[in-house]
Amino acid sequence: MQDLVDTAPVARTPAEEKIRHEGNKLSKRLARETTRAISDYNMIEEGDRVMVCLSGGKDSYSLLDILINLRKRAPFSFDIVAVNLDQKQPGFPADVLPNYLSSLGVPFHIETQDTYSIVTRVIPEGKTMCSLCSRLRRGILYRVASELGATKIALGHHRDDILATFFLNLFYGGKAKAMPPKLVSDDGRHTVIRPLAYVPESDLIAYAAFKQFPIIPCNLCGSQENLKRQEVGRMIREWDRRHPGRSWNVFNALSRIVPSHLMDRDLFDFAGLKPTGVPDAGGDTAFDHIDPSEPATPHGGAGAGCADNEPALTEQKVMFERR
Ligand code: SF4
Repeated sequence: MQDLVDTAPVARTPAEEKIRHEGNKLSKRLARETTRAISDYNMIEEGDRVMVCLSGGKDSYSLLDILINLRKRAPFSFDIVAVNLDQKQPGFPADVLPNYLSSLGVPFHIETQDTYSIVTRVIPEGKTMCSLCSRLRRGILYRVASELGATKIALGHHRDDILATFFLNLFYGGKAKAMPPKLVSDDGRHTVIRPLAYVPESDLIAYAAFKQFPIIPCNLCGSQENLKRQEVGRMIREWDRRHPGRSWNVFNALSRIVPSHLMDRDLFDFAGLKPTGVPDAGGDTAFDHIDPSEPATPHGGAGAGCADNEPALTEQKVMFERR
């Protein structure tokens, strides 16, 4: 199917033509959204050496593919090096990634470290191994980034990962905290970026199918994904099905924080808050009912109850604005 994106004139059936057309549209959208995230958060700069962490899953394959294409058109130069950590899980097909990366002609490094043995030795049977496994993996990848002279570490997390992390922290951690598109690593030495931050998982599923990436299953270690994360993932997918636009609304809210209307005294100086005597159009109306979807009207919002009758319309509107 990958051949279908080539420009050489070939006879195609209508079905093939449709797949090619949809695939090209998707490729353009992914390039656009990734470029937007990179630019919004200044993720990649002139002269960067970007280490793309490749697990063999759909997200990291897509990330590498998109960055390789963007690099060709970027107005500045940067390098890419793909890195895979072979953790020696039983049945890991060690030749798949080297073969794929060689065919792309992209510089790569395979780091082999048997973290699987450590994790299975330390974690009691039946308990989830992911937390220790991820910690070990993180340390190794930081070291490899230093050895390779990488200035940025790119991870394949997407919009739904960010949303799921937000809800996990909200539901189980009591914190309004998500997964940032850019951060400095906990050892203080690396910049980690998530160029797919604006991309919904459904687009990456479709892209992986269109590009026919040689996916390596992610359950080789036998560990189950955290049940709470599964539950939150189901909730977001259900919203996408039943309330189109809702998950985008929540996602967009993550970059439209109003500290004066939350309760964190470190973010807003409530103690020092005093009337200035100067009218503020964005100020709080205090006594009126606030319709969360609209700025306050002369009637002080839609009146109690009215605003709750049309959430689907509001969600729909945001979705259309967004896409
Ligand atoms: S699923 Fe397996 S490989 Fe992935 S983080 Fe968990 S233990 Fe590690």
